Amino acid sequence: MGPVAAAELSLIAYGDVVAGCTKCALAEGRTQVVFGAGSPSAELMFVGEAPGFHEDKQGVPFVGAAGKLLSKLLAGIGIEREDVYIANVIKCRPPGNRNPLPEEIEACEAHLWRQIELIQPKLVATLGNFATKLLSGKPAGITQVHGREQEVMLGGQTVTLYPIFHPAAALYTPRMLEVLEADFRRIPELLGRAALPAREVTPVSEPVAEPVPAPATGQQLGLF
Ligand code: URA
Repeated sequence: MGPVAAAELSLIAYGDVVAGCTKCALAEGRTQVVFGAGSPSAELMFVGEAPGFHEDKQGVPFVGAAGKLLSKLLAGIGIEREDVYIANVIKCRPPGNRNPLPEEIEACEAHLWRQIELIQPKLVATLGNFATKLLSGKPAGITQVHGREQEVMLGGQTVTLYPIFHPAAALYTPRMLEVLEADFRRIPELLGRAALPAREVTPVSEPVAEPVPAPATGQQLGLF
């Protein structure tokens, strides 16, 4: 067995272990752990915040409205969703989609480090504030640092960290979608690939996915 196949098996085995995780109180309210999805040998990995309603039901990250936008943005730069790996900072849905608590992030972060160690991506795109702050180890928020790549040590290796806005934020704010599209267009270059000719992914004036209720006060404020 080659090293890639071995890493794939290890990732599946680790996912099986994490499926029974009870390290924090979110275990009590979840339908299931949302470990991650995609290619175990992906060069490009995305890290979001936490599973939402649909992710909790299906056990797959980014399957709701934000996920549909993520898939469109990927298609716009010529990358298939199956070729990347997608995970979250925390693997279980917080009640009412509230922001993850510091103790939940702390309890869960070892799972993310292990995923990165096994996948060995070249480029890790952090979606929004929670992933960016955790993986950069710095307090600077996404509005300040989006689109600025940096070399960091993650899971025992040097990777390029690329903070970008969370797609859920772009669902509510057309201007943010433009910024997210512009930041996405740099991904091929950061992977050392030729860029596709620029084209607009989603007309900003049209809805990008099924209607999403605006976040209630206190929810999803971490996206910006
Ligand atoms: N938002 C996230 O951050 N992660 C998901 O899996 C879905 C929505």
